[in-house]
Amino acid sequence: MRTSQYILATLKETPSDAEIISHQLMLRAGMIRKLASGLYTWLPSGLKVLRKVEQVVREEMNKAGAIELLMPVIQPADLWEESGRWEQFGPELLRINDRHNRPFALGPTHEEVITDLVRKEINSYKQLPINFYQIQTKVRDEVRPRFGVMRAREFTMKDAYSFHMTEECLDNTYQRMHQAYCNIFERLGLDYRPVIADTGSIGGSVSHEFHVLAESGEDAIAFSDASDYAANIEKAEAVAPSEARPAPSKELNSFDTPEAKTIEELKAKHGVKPHRGVKTLIVYGAPDENEERGLVALIVRGDHELNELKAEKLELVDSPLEMAKEEDIVAAIGARPGSLGPVGLDMPIIVDRSAAVMADFVAGANKDGVHYSGINFDRDVTEYTVEDIRNVIEGDPSPCGKGTLHIKRGIEVGHIFQLGSKYSEAMNAGVLGENGKNQIMTMGCYGIGVSRIVAAAIEQNNDKFGIKWPKTLAPFELAIVPMNMHKSHRIPDIAERLYSEFQAAGVDVLFDDRKERPGVMFNDMELVGIPYTLVIGERNLDENKVELKNRITGEKLMLDIDSAVVEIT
Ligand code: ATP
Ligand code: MG
Ligand code: MG
Ligand code: MG
Repeated sequence: MRTSQYILATLKETPSDAEIISHQLMLRAGMIRKLASGLYTWLPSGLKVLRKVEQVVREEMNKAGAIELLMPVIQPADLWEESGRWEQFGPELLRINDRHNRPFALGPTHEEVITDLVRKEINSYKQLPINFYQIQTKVRDEVRPRFGVMRAREFTMKDAYSFHMTEECLDNTYQRMHQAYCNIFERLGLDYRPVIADTGSIGGSVSHEFHVLAESGEDAIAFSDASDYAANIEKAEAVAPSEARPAPSKELNSFDTPEAKTIEELKAKHGVKPHRGVKTLIVYGAPDENEERGLVALIVRGDHELNELKAEKLELVDSPLEMAKEEDIVAAIGARPGSLGPVGLDMPIIVDRSAAVMADFVAGANKDGVHYSGINFDRDVTEYTVEDIRNVIEGDPSPCGKGTLHIKRGIEVGHIFQLGSKYSEAMNAGVLGENGKNQIMTMGCYGIGVSRIVAAAIEQNNDKFGIKWPKTLAPFELAIVPMNMHKSHRIPDIAERLYSEFQAAGVDVLFDDRKERPGVMFNDMELVGIPYTLVIGERNLDENKVELKNRITGEKLMLDIDSAVVEIT
């Protein structure tokens, strides 16, 4: 490829709305452009990297015996009704109607579609086990799209779904997928960890997430310092020995009628104390105008010092006793319409990040006659910092019994699940068993965030000059940079010759044929992260040499022009 016939689209300045390094570099290196919140165009260089990730994923999935297919993005609501998720999924499910006013969803995941396919196409135990996968666009109307393609509203996922007669068979495929995932992340050169994950609302017993370690990661993972134990924070906390956890805070339990009208008064009156280190979201109940249906009138967030109470919606804080509209609450806490009630007058709901802590609290709260209702606690309703979490479990005994827990940040790039029969049962997906009777299948599902991996890889491979692509991911393998081409005939001639020779040798080479200053060209090649740059300069040509620069190590190597192609390839 010639730069003059390409769109490098590099930027000198760091765009102000990009918070983390991968987002900044993807914009600056001309990989993506924003269309709207959480929606990105992949520019040619970005797309090349995305395709490389896809290819590695595809090869390893094929090797592990999975079969590729492709399902529609648009999915009929009936299937989601059947599984019960049309109601459950909440606002992350983007819903549309067709011209006949029939409801559809833009697929955030494909359990329903694949289960429907398999129940129609697979009839006998003899056809099992079977594992289907696709690499495809997913749509999720994320509450907080951010960090570029890291948390987008439209993104590329590899999702696989396996079907079995027995738990043992499912476990077999699960282990194969686990291994395939390790192979994939290894080949992509990522520093990653598989961690035990909470199965949450999906049910089932076994689940692992794969995290790329990075300070910018939105997730926290807990490691034992004396064993292989590693779990995501929810799981580590859920199984941590109970003596390691302080008892639920009584102060929160006794939080009563909000006579106070401002946060200050509220704090003074109730002396609200934090419930362990995690940021706490307090949702206060109050009735609607007819005193029939409970609505939530006050939402307060407190940090663990509780020297700061922040409202999700300021208007709710300023007038805590005024009626709040359900839409406001729904918007504020990301709950689903209809999921809030009935909450009676003076009934506080305290939503905590930790399911385990929440369970403790609810048990206590119910004893005290305080009700809670209808909010999906697996849902991530609070923002938390790693420091918050460190306060919670850093130094706790490891659930495995060896060592204590330490926290690191991670980016979730993969997630595998033993689903059991949740979907197959709801959707009546059975096959003829060996005994001649219909038997419901058990399922596994396995996701990889293909587009998120591109960003995660940059988080781990960069320096102040730009991206340092490992060979497997780089948009180009080699750049040819002729210095001051227009000043001499020798340079363009050699550059052209080498360019065609590299092309003939099958090297994906970018020929920077712009009439730019050498400094500009070097900066661009470093920013884009091309692993090798071949510099053609007047002085070296006198000795029939060109210079090869390694982007990762910074090493420079002099090569004979005539053997350059052979030596590099
Ligand atoms: P997260 O916790 O980051 O929201 P998730 O647990 O909701 O992710 P899964 O349903 O497990 O995601 O989907 C499988 C994979 O898809 C995730 O491990 C992640 O790598 C990727 N993924 C999920 N949501 C997004 C998104 N909004 N943008 C990019 N990739 C995503
Ligand atoms: Mg999510
Ligand atoms: Mg997750
Ligand atoms: Mg997940």
